[in-house]
Amino acid sequence: MDYRKELADYIFPNITESIEDLEKRYPERNLKEGAKVTRFAPSPTGFLHTGSLFTSLVAYKMAKDSGGIFYLRLEDTDTKREVEGSALLLIKQLHEFGIEADEGYLGNEEKGIYGPYVQSKRKTIYETVIKDMLIKGLAYPCFLSEEDLKELREEQTKNKEITGVYGKYAKYRDLAPEKALEMIKSGLAYVIRFKSSGNHLNKIKCHDEIRGDLELTENDQDIVIYKSDGLPTYHFAHVVDDHFMRTNLVTRGEEWLSSLPIHLELFKALGFKAPKYAHLPVIMKLDNGNRRKLSKRKDKEASVDFFLESGFEPHALLVYLMTIVNSNYEDFIVTSKDYDLGHFKMSLKKMSLDGALFDNAKLEFYAKEVLSKMNKDEISFKATEWAKVYSPELLSFIEKDPARFKEILNIEREKKNPRKDYAKYSDIYPVIRFFDHDEYLKMLEETKLEFNENIFIETIKNFLKLYKDKGFALDLDENTWFTNVKEVASKVGFCTDNKLYKEDPSKWAGNTNDACEIIRVAMTLRKVTPNLFAIMKILGEEEVKNRIEIIQNKI
Ligand code: GLU
Repeated sequence: MDYRKELADYIFPNITESIEDLEKRYPERNLKEGAKVTRFAPSPTGFLHTGSLFTSLVAYKMAKDSGGIFYLRLEDTDTKREVEGSALLLIKQLHEFGIEADEGYLGNEEKGIYGPYVQSKRKTIYETVIKDMLIKGLAYPCFLSEEDLKELREEQTKNKEITGVYGKYAKYRDLAPEKALEMIKSGLAYVIRFKSSGNHLNKIKCHDEIRGDLELTENDQDIVIYKSDGLPTYHFAHVVDDHFMRTNLVTRGEEWLSSLPIHLELFKALGFKAPKYAHLPVIMKLDNGNRRKLSKRKDKEASVDFFLESGFEPHALLVYLMTIVNSNYEDFIVTSKDYDLGHFKMSLKKMSLDGALFDNAKLEFYAKEVLSKMNKDEISFKATEWAKVYSPELLSFIEKDPARFKEILNIEREKKNPRKDYAKYSDIYPVIRFFDHDEYLKMLEETKLEFNENIFIETIKNFLKLYKDKGFALDLDENTWFTNVKEVASKVGFCTDNKLYKEDPSKWAGNTNDACEIIRVAMTLRKVTPNLFAIMKILGEEEVKNRIEIIQNKI
């Protein structure tokens, strides 16, 4: 009598398929040589973590660069940690970053023939494999209770031994199947464990695509593969899913590296070819001079939502993350000035293991670069989309005159070295707010007028009067406008020849820069702004005149 078969049939009466059937149902993928099949396998336990975005970017790029497949698998077997709605949110957030899966769980639908791509829907697949393992003696029911396990751990700790269920401590690994069957029939709770044949005194050789060749301690733990709630553990689901979904490169967080021997042993025991692995460094943060992991609880940067809300262009965050992934990416940008990630070929070999330090200043730098490279249509469209969700004040500014908004954003944009005023969409409104007449008046209330203290107030008044009377020459080119400013400036005793001025500034009431500054402060209430001529053109003759009068009354 084959008791193992009887036991397996008793536990899984409805499983009629075999591993061979699964092999047929999920055939090898027919891809060109070298094409990578990668996946992103989030657990629906909350928002998209910046570390997960990093992981998904790597998986996505490895697939794209090699003409392979990037798919998404939802790992929802930890029902206790599941947060409702988070699976859909993850997909939405990935979509905002332009990381679209070719296949897999896509939110409201699934795509591809290797599904289901949601682990909780794959129960029969796991059970098919486990049933087969029970029959082959590769797995067994274990009746150790929580209490037993606690006692075992205590004893092992006391004896300074490795903790866990292994070797002589794996009390039920050699229990006769007919006896196990009896115990199950009597209603005893159990889990199913893998019967390891390893020895922790041995080392195994393995390879990581980032770290190279490694020697790790062989696994000898009889790990749980099937929990009492009828769901698989991560270790088991990883092996089964990545095998039957035909993943050939697993990219995942380095916290899984220590479990690699378990996974390799499982692959071998099942006769499956193991994929390649790349264990990615964790993103760290400097905190009071110490490096620590980016923490979900403590750090706002741990959630990608923070960046979206703050108005970072999602693409800019990806560019920044890519500089962490590959240090040579920065050289690529410097020489190519190309921010299209599709044009850069990522290499796991060039990934630094200790370089994953989150650097806000660097992010801001790249964010400014990316926004400055957009044309006026793109940036105004994206800023508007952002404002619709996050900034009513910017949105109301835009809605008053969308075409004008576009022109404002276009100031000093269409040139070789465009201005870099904005790192994020939220930086726009504070910079351009003065364009709005009512806001200008509000700002005038809020702030002190800051003219150059070295210029007599009478000179400023005089200059403004003469300038207003003369007219602003806004309908012609910038040179004519500037000549006009200079003409007025010289009338109030300003030097318009820089060289001459430098020889002895004390001889003059001011210079051309001072004249421009008076106009700038009058128009914008600021000393630093983008191109003044462009600003005045957008304001228009009428409003320029208006503002001069407002300032005249104020000083
Ligand atoms: N669900 C696992 C996690 O979120 C995935 C790890 C993996 O990619 O294999 O950590």
